[in-house]
Amino acid sequence: MKPKQNIDTLCVQAGWAPKKGEPRILPIYQSTTFKYETSDQMARLFDLQESGYFYSRLQNPTVDVIASKIAALEGGVAAMLTSSGQAASLYSIINICSAGDHFVCSSAIYGGTFNLFAVTLKRLGIEVTFIDQDAPEEEIAGAFRPRTKALFAETIANPAVNILDIEKFARVAHSHGVPLIVDNTFPTPVNCRPIEWGADIVIHSTTKYMDGHAATIGGAIVDGGNFDWSAYGDRFACLTRPDESYHGISYTESFGRSAYITKAVVQLMRDLGSSQSPMSAFLINLGLETLHLRMARHCENALRVAEYLAANDRVAWVNYPGLKGDRYHELALKYMPSGTCGVLTFGLKGGRGESIRFIDALELASIVTHVADIRTSVLHPASHTHRQLTDDQLTAAGVSPDLIRFSVGIESADDIITDLERGFSKIG
Ligand code: PLP
Repeated sequence: MKPKQNIDTLCVQAGWAPKKGEPRILPIYQSTTFKYETSDQMARLFDLQESGYFYSRLQNPTVDVIASKIAALEGGVAAMLTSSGQAASLYSIINICSAGDHFVCSSAIYGGTFNLFAVTLKRLGIEVTFIDQDAPEEEIAGAFRPRTKALFAETIANPAVNILDIEKFARVAHSHGVPLIVDNTFPTPVNCRPIEWGADIVIHSTTKYMDGHAATIGGAIVDGGNFDWSAYGDRFACLTRPDESYHGISYTESFGRSAYITKAVVQLMRDLGSSQSPMSAFLINLGLETLHLRMARHCENALRVAEYLAANDRVAWVNYPGLKGDRYHELALKYMPSGTCGVLTFGLKGGRGESIRFIDALELASIVTHVADIRTSVLHPASHTHRQLTDDQLTAAGVSPDLIRFSVGIESADDIITDLERGFSKIG
Protein backbone atom coordinates (compact mmCIF):
# COMPACT_ATOMS: atom_id res chain seq x y z
CA MET A 1 0.00 0.00 0.00
CA LYS A 2 1.46 3.38 -1.00
CA PRO A 3 1.79 5.77 1.95
CA LYS A 4 -0.60 8.74 1.98
CA GLN A 5 2.24 11.20 2.56
CA ASN A 6 5.63 11.43 0.93
CA ILE A 7 8.44 9.53 2.59
CA ASP A 8 10.21 12.81 3.52
CA THR A 9 7.18 13.91 5.52
CA LEU A 10 6.81 10.49 7.15
CA CYS A 11 10.46 10.55 8.26
CA VAL A 12 9.83 13.82 10.07
CA GLN A 13 6.22 13.52 11.20
CA ALA A 14 5.01 9.89 11.35
CA GLY A 15 4.57 8.17 14.72
CA TRP A 16 4.23 10.74 17.48
CA ALA A 17 1.14 12.92 17.08
CA PRO A 18 0.78 15.00 20.24
CA LYS A 19 -2.61 16.27 21.35
CA LYS A 20 -3.44 19.48 23.22
CA GLY A 21 -0.82 20.34 25.82
CA GLU A 22 1.34 17.27 25.14
CA PRO A 23 5.09 17.56 24.45
CA ARG A 24 5.95 18.35 20.82
CA ILE A 25 8.88 15.92 20.99
CA LEU A 26 8.31 12.21 21.65
CA PRO A 27 8.67 11.65 25.42
CA ILE A 28 10.89 8.90 26.77
CA TYR A 29 8.62 6.71 28.88
CA GLN A 30 11.41 5.45 31.10
CA SER A 31 9.24 3.05 33.08
CA THR A 32 9.29 -0.71 33.38
CA THR A 33 5.62 -0.89 34.27
CA PHE A 34 2.22 0.81 33.94
CA LYS A 35 -0.51 1.32 36.55
CA TYR A 36 -4.15 0.11 36.48
CA GLU A 37 -7.09 0.74 38.77
CA THR A 38 -8.71 -2.67 39.01
CA SER A 39 -7.46 -6.20 38.89
CA ASP A 40 -9.93 -6.92 36.08
CA GLN A 41 -8.43 -4.18 33.87
CA MET A 42 -5.04 -5.83 34.17
CA ALA A 43 -6.48 -9.33 33.63
CA ARG A 44 -8.03 -8.24 30.32
CA LEU A 45 -4.58 -7.15 29.10
CA PHE A 46 -3.12 -10.56 29.96
CA ASP A 47 -5.90 -12.24 27.97
CA LEU A 48 -5.20 -9.95 24.99
CA GLN A 49 -8.83 -8.81 25.19
CA GLU A 50 -7.69 -5.20 25.38
CA SER A 51 -4.52 -3.53 24.23
CA GLY A 52 -2.56 -1.49 26.73
CA TYR A 53 0.83 -1.25 28.36
CA PHE A 54 1.74 -3.28 31.40
CA TYR A 55 5.40 -4.19 31.18
CA SER A 56 8.11 -2.68 28.94
CA ARG A 57 9.58 -6.04 27.97
CA LEU A 58 6.48 -6.51 25.81
CA GLN A 59 5.50 -2.98 24.90
CA ASN A 60 6.44 0.56 25.81
CA PRO A 61 4.83 3.75 24.47
CA THR A 62 8.09 5.35 23.22
CA VAL A 63 9.18 2.12 21.56
CA ASP A 64 5.73 1.61 20.01
CA VAL A 65 5.63 5.09 18.48
CA ILE A 66 8.90 4.42 16.66
CA ALA A 67 7.69 0.99 15.58
CA SER A 68 4.57 2.58 14.10
CA LYS A 69 6.72 5.17 12.33
CA ILE A 70 8.83 2.42 10.74
CA ALA A 71 5.61 0.58 9.77
CA ALA A 72 4.39 3.77 8.08
CA LEU A 73 7.72 4.24 6.28
CA GLU A 74 7.64 0.66 4.96
CA GLY A 75 3.90 0.70 4.18
CA GLY A 76 3.21 -2.20 6.58
CA VAL A 77 0.28 -2.75 8.94
CA ALA A 78 2.35 -2.85 12.13
CA ALA A 79 5.90 -3.23 13.40
CA MET A 80 7.94 -4.01 16.48
CA LEU A 81 11.38 -2.91 17.61
CA THR A 82 13.98 -5.36 18.86
CA SER A 83 17.19 -4.89 20.80
CA SER A 84 19.32 -5.54 17.69
CA GLY A 85 19.12 -6.42 14.02
CA GLN A 86 20.23 -9.94 14.97
CA ALA A 87 17.18 -10.30 17.21
CA ALA A 88 14.96 -9.09 14.36
CA SER A 89 16.44 -11.74 12.00
CA LEU A 90 16.06 -14.45 14.64
CA TYR A 91 12.46 -13.55 15.54
CA SER A 92 11.42 -13.18 11.91
CA ILE A 93 12.27 -16.85 11.34
CA ILE A 94 11.39 -18.51 14.64
CA ASN A 95 8.02 -16.77 14.69
CA ILE A 96 6.97 -19.31 12.04
CA CYS A 97 9.66 -22.05 12.12
CA SER A 98 10.09 -24.70 14.81
CA ALA A 99 12.47 -27.66 15.15
CA GLY A 100 12.11 -29.84 12.04
CA ASP A 101 11.18 -26.89 9.80
CA HIS A 102 13.25 -25.48 6.98
CA PHE A 103 13.68 -22.20 5.12
CA VAL A 104 15.48 -21.04 1.99
CA CYS A 105 17.89 -18.11 2.08
CA SER A 106 20.12 -16.14 -0.26
CA SER A 107 23.78 -16.94 0.40
CA ALA A 108 24.67 -13.25 -0.08
CA ILE A 109 23.68 -12.03 3.37
CA TYR A 110 25.42 -10.34 6.29
CA GLY A 111 27.97 -12.69 7.91
CA GLY A 112 26.30 -12.46 11.34
CA THR A 113 22.93 -13.49 9.90
CA PHE A 114 24.61 -16.29 7.94
CA ASN A 115 26.12 -17.67 11.13
CA LEU A 116 22.86 -17.31 13.06
CA PHE A 117 20.99 -19.27 10.38
CA ALA A 118 23.66 -21.84 9.46
CA VAL A 119 24.93 -22.65 12.94
CA THR A 120 22.68 -21.47 15.77
CA LEU A 121 19.30 -22.20 14.16
CA LYS A 122 20.64 -25.53 12.96
CA ARG A 123 21.49 -26.36 16.57
CA LEU A 124 17.84 -25.60 17.40
CA GLY A 125 16.70 -28.02 14.69
CA ILE A 126 15.77 -25.45 12.03
CA GLU A 127 17.46 -26.15 8.70
CA VAL A 128 18.39 -23.58 6.07
CA THR A 129 19.34 -24.07 2.43
CA PHE A 130 21.43 -21.24 0.96
CA ILE A 131 20.90 -20.42 -2.71
CA ASP A 132 22.41 -18.04 -5.25
CA GLN A 133 19.95 -15.15 -5.41
CA ASP A 134 20.78 -14.52 -9.06
CA ALA A 135 19.90 -18.11 -10.04
CA PRO A 136 16.82 -18.72 -12.23
CA GLU A 137 13.49 -19.21 -10.46
CA GLU A 138 13.42 -22.97 -11.17
CA GLU A 139 16.79 -23.43 -9.45
CA ILE A 140 15.69 -21.49 -6.37
CA ALA A 141 12.41 -23.45 -6.36
CA GLY A 142 14.48 -26.67 -6.29
CA ALA A 143 15.63 -25.84 -2.74
CA PHE A 144 12.09 -25.95 -1.32
CA ARG A 145 10.98 -28.93 0.78
CA PRO A 146 7.62 -29.97 2.24
CA ARG A 147 8.53 -28.29 5.56
CA THR A 148 9.90 -25.07 4.04
CA LYS A 149 8.30 -22.11 5.83
CA ALA A 150 9.98 -18.98 4.43
CA LEU A 151 12.27 -17.43 1.85
CA PHE A 152 14.80 -14.87 3.17
CA ALA A 153 17.15 -12.36 1.49
CA GLU A 154 18.61 -8.85 1.79
CA THR A 155 17.39 -6.15 -0.61
CA ILE A 156 21.00 -4.95 -0.88
CA ALA A 157 23.37 -7.62 0.36
CA ASN A 158 26.00 -6.74 2.94
CA PRO A 159 28.82 -6.56 1.91
CA ALA A 160 28.63 -7.63 -1.74
CA VAL A 161 25.97 -4.95 -2.51
CA ASN A 162 24.02 -7.34 -4.79
CA ILE A 163 20.53 -6.05 -5.55
CA LEU A 164 17.72 -8.53 -4.93
CA ASP A 165 15.16 -9.14 -7.66
CA ILE A 166 12.33 -8.77 -5.14
CA GLU A 167 9.51 -9.64 -7.55
CA LYS A 168 11.28 -12.86 -8.59
CA PHE A 169 11.76 -13.85 -4.95
CA ALA A 170 8.14 -13.00 -4.09
CA ARG A 171 6.94 -15.18 -6.99
CA VAL A 172 9.00 -18.18 -5.88
CA ALA A 173 7.95 -17.78 -2.23
CA HIS A 174 4.26 -17.34 -2.99
CA SER A 175 4.11 -20.20 -5.48
CA HIS A 176 5.28 -22.41 -2.58
CA GLY A 177 2.81 -20.88 -0.11
CA VAL A 178 5.42 -19.23 2.11
CA PRO A 179 6.21 -15.60 2.95
CA LEU A 180 9.12 -13.61 1.58
CA ILE A 181 11.11 -12.04 4.43
CA VAL A 182 13.57 -9.35 3.40
CA ASP A 183 16.20 -7.44 5.29
CA ASN A 184 15.90 -3.87 4.00
CA THR A 185 18.67 -2.39 6.15
CA PHE A 186 20.87 -0.96 3.39
CA PRO A 187 18.43 0.89 1.10
CA THR A 188 16.04 1.82 3.95
CA PRO A 189 12.41 2.60 3.05
CA VAL A 190 13.59 5.94 1.70
CA ASN A 191 15.11 4.16 -1.30
CA CYS A 192 13.10 0.92 -1.46
CA ARG A 193 9.79 -0.27 -0.02
CA PRO A 194 9.86 -4.06 -0.57
CA ILE A 195 6.23 -4.60 0.50
CA GLU A 196 5.17 -2.68 -2.62
CA TRP A 197 7.08 -5.29 -4.66
CA GLY A 198 5.57 -8.34 -2.95
CA ALA A 199 7.65 -8.89 0.21
CA ASP A 200 5.59 -9.98 3.20
CA ILE A 201 7.82 -9.25 6.18
CA VAL A 202 10.57 -6.60 6.28
CA ILE A 203 13.28 -6.51 8.88
CA HIS A 204 15.95 -3.95 9.74
CA SER A 205 19.09 -3.44 11.65
CA THR A 206 18.13 0.08 12.79
CA THR A 207 21.74 0.29 13.97
CA LYS A 208 22.64 1.28 10.41
CA TYR A 209 21.16 4.18 8.41
CA MET A 210 17.99 4.51 10.50
CA ASP A 211 20.00 5.56 13.53
CA GLY A 212 22.76 6.71 11.21
CA HIS A 213 24.97 8.24 13.91
CA ALA A 214 26.45 5.00 15.30
CA ALA A 215 24.76 5.73 18.61
CA THR A 216 22.56 2.72 19.32
CA ILE A 217 22.06 -0.93 18.40
CA GLY A 218 18.55 -1.88 17.34
CA GLY A 219 16.29 -3.82 15.03
CA ALA A 220 12.78 -3.75 13.63
CA ILE A 221 10.29 -6.18 12.09
CA VAL A 222 7.50 -4.88 9.87
CA ASP A 223 4.45 -6.94 8.98
CA GLY A 224 3.17 -6.17 5.48
CA GLY A 225 -0.18 -7.71 6.45
CA ASN A 226 -0.69 -9.27 2.99
CA PHE A 227 0.31 -12.89 3.49
CA ASP A 228 -2.73 -15.16 3.86
CA TRP A 229 -1.61 -17.47 6.68
CA SER A 230 -5.06 -19.07 6.88
CA ALA A 231 -4.80 -20.25 3.28
CA TYR A 232 -2.01 -22.57 4.54
CA GLY A 233 -3.52 -23.22 7.96
CA ASP A 234 -1.69 -26.48 8.63
CA ARG A 235 1.69 -25.12 7.58
CA PHE A 236 1.27 -22.06 9.80
CA ALA A 237 -0.63 -23.74 12.63
CA CYS A 238 1.37 -21.57 15.06
CA LEU A 239 -0.63 -18.59 13.76
CA THR A 240 -3.95 -20.17 12.84
CA ARG A 241 -4.52 -22.67 15.70
CA PRO A 242 -5.11 -21.93 19.41
CA ASP A 243 -2.09 -20.72 21.39
CA GLU A 244 -2.30 -22.45 24.76
CA SER A 245 -0.05 -19.83 26.32
CA TYR A 246 -2.82 -17.28 25.61
CA HIS A 247 -5.89 -19.26 26.64
CA GLY A 248 -6.34 -20.71 23.21
CA ILE A 249 -6.53 -17.62 21.00
CA SER A 250 -5.78 -17.96 17.30
CA TYR A 251 -3.66 -15.05 16.07
CA THR A 252 -5.20 -15.03 12.60
CA GLU A 253 -8.75 -15.09 14.01
CA SER A 254 -8.13 -12.44 16.66
CA PHE A 255 -5.68 -10.12 14.90
CA GLY A 256 -6.30 -10.61 11.17
CA ARG A 257 -3.68 -8.86 9.06
CA SER A 258 -1.50 -8.20 12.14
CA ALA A 259 -1.40 -11.87 13.19
CA TYR A 260 2.32 -12.40 12.52
CA ILE A 261 3.56 -9.29 14.30
CA THR A 262 1.16 -9.69 17.23
CA LYS A 263 2.45 -13.21 17.83
CA ALA A 264 6.06 -11.99 17.65
CA VAL A 265 5.36 -9.31 20.26
CA VAL A 266 3.14 -11.15 22.70
CA GLN A 267 4.80 -14.57 22.48
CA LEU A 268 8.44 -14.20 21.39
CA MET A 269 9.12 -10.91 23.14
CA ARG A 270 7.37 -12.17 26.27
CA ASP A 271 9.44 -15.36 26.33
CA LEU A 272 12.78 -14.23 24.90
CA GLY A 273 12.85 -10.57 25.88
CA SER A 274 15.08 -8.95 23.24
CA SER A 275 13.29 -5.66 23.77
CA GLN A 276 14.44 -2.22 22.72
CA SER A 277 14.90 0.42 25.42
CA PRO A 278 12.85 3.64 25.37
CA MET A 279 16.06 5.72 25.35
CA SER A 280 17.43 3.87 22.31
CA ALA A 281 14.08 4.16 20.53
CA PHE A 282 14.21 7.93 21.14
CA LEU A 283 17.71 8.06 19.59
CA ILE A 284 16.58 6.00 16.59
CA ASN A 285 13.78 8.51 16.08
CA LEU A 286 16.27 11.39 15.96
CA GLY A 287 18.01 9.47 13.18
CA LEU A 288 14.76 8.74 11.34
CA GLU A 289 13.87 12.43 11.30
CA THR A 290 16.74 13.16 8.90
CA LEU A 291 16.92 9.77 7.14
CA HIS A 292 15.64 11.13 3.81
CA LEU A 293 18.27 13.91 3.77
CA ARG A 294 21.11 11.65 4.79
CA MET A 295 20.27 8.86 2.33
CA ALA A 296 20.33 11.30 -0.57
CA ARG A 297 23.76 12.61 0.49
CA HIS A 298 25.16 9.11 1.17
CA CYS A 299 24.12 8.05 -2.35
CA GLU A 300 25.44 11.21 -4.03
CA ASN A 301 28.82 10.89 -2.28
CA ALA A 302 29.02 7.13 -2.91
CA LEU A 303 28.49 7.62 -6.63
CA ARG A 304 31.29 10.22 -6.72
CA VAL A 305 33.62 7.83 -4.87
CA ALA A 306 32.63 4.86 -7.08
CA GLU A 307 33.32 6.87 -10.22
CA TYR A 308 36.69 7.97 -8.84
CA LEU A 309 37.67 4.38 -7.97
CA ALA A 310 36.43 2.97 -11.29
CA ALA A 311 38.75 5.40 -13.11
CA ASN A 312 41.78 4.52 -10.94
CA ASP A 313 44.47 2.24 -12.43
CA ARG A 314 45.29 0.64 -9.07
CA VAL A 315 41.72 -0.58 -8.60
CA ALA A 316 40.95 -4.07 -9.93
CA TRP A 317 37.16 -3.81 -9.63
CA VAL A 318 34.38 -1.71 -8.07
CA ASN A 319 30.87 -2.83 -7.10
CA TYR A 320 28.36 -0.06 -6.69
CA PRO A 321 24.88 -0.65 -8.07
CA GLY A 322 24.45 3.08 -8.65
CA LEU A 323 27.36 3.00 -11.13
CA LYS A 324 26.43 2.72 -14.82
CA GLY A 325 27.67 -0.62 -16.12
CA ASP A 326 27.50 -2.30 -12.69
CA ARG A 327 25.94 -5.76 -13.02
CA TYR A 328 23.10 -4.72 -10.68
CA HIS A 329 22.52 -1.28 -12.20
CA GLU A 330 19.34 -2.29 -14.05
CA LEU A 331 17.82 -3.90 -10.94
CA ALA A 332 18.85 -0.84 -8.93
CA LEU A 333 17.07 1.47 -11.38
CA LYS A 334 13.95 -0.69 -11.14
CA TYR A 335 13.73 -1.12 -7.37
CA MET A 336 15.68 1.90 -6.11
CA PRO A 337 15.35 4.70 -8.66
CA SER A 338 16.24 7.42 -6.13
CA GLY A 339 19.51 5.73 -5.11
CA THR A 340 20.75 2.58 -3.40
CA CYS A 341 22.93 3.22 -0.35
CA GLY A 342 26.31 4.62 0.63
CA VAL A 343 28.12 1.28 0.77
CA LEU A 344 30.37 0.11 -2.04
CA THR A 345 33.05 -2.53 -2.37
CA PHE A 346 36.26 -2.63 -4.35
CA GLY A 347 39.48 -4.60 -4.65
CA LEU A 348 43.03 -3.55 -5.47
CA LYS A 349 45.20 -5.10 -8.17
CA GLY A 350 47.77 -5.97 -5.49
CA GLY A 351 45.25 -8.35 -3.86
CA ARG A 352 44.53 -9.09 -0.21
CA GLY A 353 47.80 -7.72 1.22
CA GLU A 354 47.57 -4.43 -0.67
CA SER A 355 43.91 -3.97 0.31
CA ILE A 356 44.88 -4.30 3.99
CA ARG A 357 47.84 -1.86 3.65
CA PHE A 358 45.58 0.58 1.82
CA ILE A 359 42.92 0.77 4.50
CA ASP A 360 45.64 1.20 7.14
CA ALA A 361 46.87 4.25 5.21
CA LEU A 362 43.51 6.08 5.26
CA GLU A 363 42.96 8.89 7.75
CA LEU A 364 39.46 10.31 7.23
CA ALA A 365 37.87 6.88 6.79
CA SER A 366 37.97 4.99 10.06
CA ILE A 367 38.37 1.22 10.39
CA VAL A 368 35.23 0.16 12.22
CA THR A 369 32.94 -2.89 12.26
CA HIS A 370 30.13 -0.74 11.10
CA VAL A 371 28.52 0.67 8.00
CA ALA A 372 25.89 3.27 7.27
CA ASP A 373 27.30 5.86 9.63
CA ILE A 374 27.41 9.57 8.79
CA ARG A 375 31.21 9.20 9.10
CA THR A 376 33.03 7.36 6.31
CA SER A 377 33.97 3.86 7.47
CA VAL A 378 36.12 1.10 6.00
CA LEU A 379 36.60 -2.62 6.66
CA HIS A 380 38.25 -5.71 5.22
CA PRO A 381 35.46 -8.32 5.66
CA ALA A 382 37.66 -11.39 5.00
CA SER A 383 39.78 -10.34 8.02
CA HIS A 384 36.94 -9.01 10.17
CA THR A 385 33.14 -9.57 9.88
CA HIS A 386 33.42 -12.69 7.72
CA ARG A 387 36.54 -14.27 9.20
CA GLN A 388 34.52 -17.24 10.52
CA LEU A 389 33.51 -18.26 6.98
CA THR A 390 35.35 -20.86 4.92
CA ASP A 391 36.74 -19.87 1.49
CA ASP A 392 33.75 -21.53 -0.19
CA GLN A 393 31.31 -19.69 2.05
CA LEU A 394 33.20 -16.42 1.37
CA THR A 395 32.82 -16.98 -2.37
CA ALA A 396 29.10 -17.79 -1.99
CA ALA A 397 28.65 -14.60 0.03
CA GLY A 398 30.45 -12.63 -2.70
CA VAL A 399 33.36 -11.72 -0.43
CA SER A 400 36.68 -12.06 -2.26
CA PRO A 401 39.91 -11.92 -0.20
CA ASP A 402 40.82 -8.48 -1.58
CA LEU A 403 37.36 -6.96 -0.98
CA ILE A 404 37.34 -3.59 0.79
CA ARG A 405 33.96 -2.51 2.17
CA PHE A 406 33.73 1.25 2.02
CA SER A 407 30.79 3.00 3.66
CA VAL A 408 30.67 6.51 2.31
CA GLY A 409 29.60 9.11 4.86
CA ILE A 410 28.04 12.51 4.46
CA GLU A 411 31.27 14.53 4.70
CA SER A 412 32.49 16.46 1.64
CA ALA A 413 32.96 14.01 -1.25
CA ASP A 414 36.10 15.98 -2.21
CA ASP A 415 37.65 15.27 1.18
CA ILE A 416 36.75 11.56 1.02
CA ILE A 417 38.42 11.31 -2.40
CA THR A 418 41.48 13.21 -1.11
CA ASP A 419 41.74 10.58 1.64
CA LEU A 420 41.63 7.77 -0.93
CA GLU A 421 44.32 9.54 -2.97
CA ARG A 422 46.41 9.79 0.18
CA GLY A 423 45.95 6.05 0.74
CA PHE A 424 47.14 5.24 -2.79
CA SER A 425 50.16 7.52 -2.51
CA LYS A 426 51.19 6.05 0.87
CA ILE A 427 51.19 2.43 -0.33
CA GLY A 428 53.52 3.52 -3.16
N1 PLP B 1 21.28 -7.12 8.74
C1 PLP B 1 22.24 -6.47 8.07
C2 PLP B 1 22.08 -6.23 6.59
C3 PLP B 1 23.38 -6.01 8.72
O1 PLP B 1 24.31 -5.36 8.04
C4 PLP B 1 23.51 -6.26 10.12
C5 PLP B 1 24.70 -5.82 10.86
O2 PLP B 1 25.66 -5.37 10.27
C6 PLP B 1 22.49 -6.97 10.77
C7 PLP B 1 21.38 -7.37 10.07
C8 PLP B 1 22.57 -7.24 12.25
O3 PLP B 1 22.22 -6.07 12.92
P1 PLP B 1 22.75 -5.66 14.38
O4 PLP B 1 24.22 -5.44 14.27
O5 PLP B 1 21.95 -4.43 14.67
O6 PLP B 1 22.42 -6.78 15.29
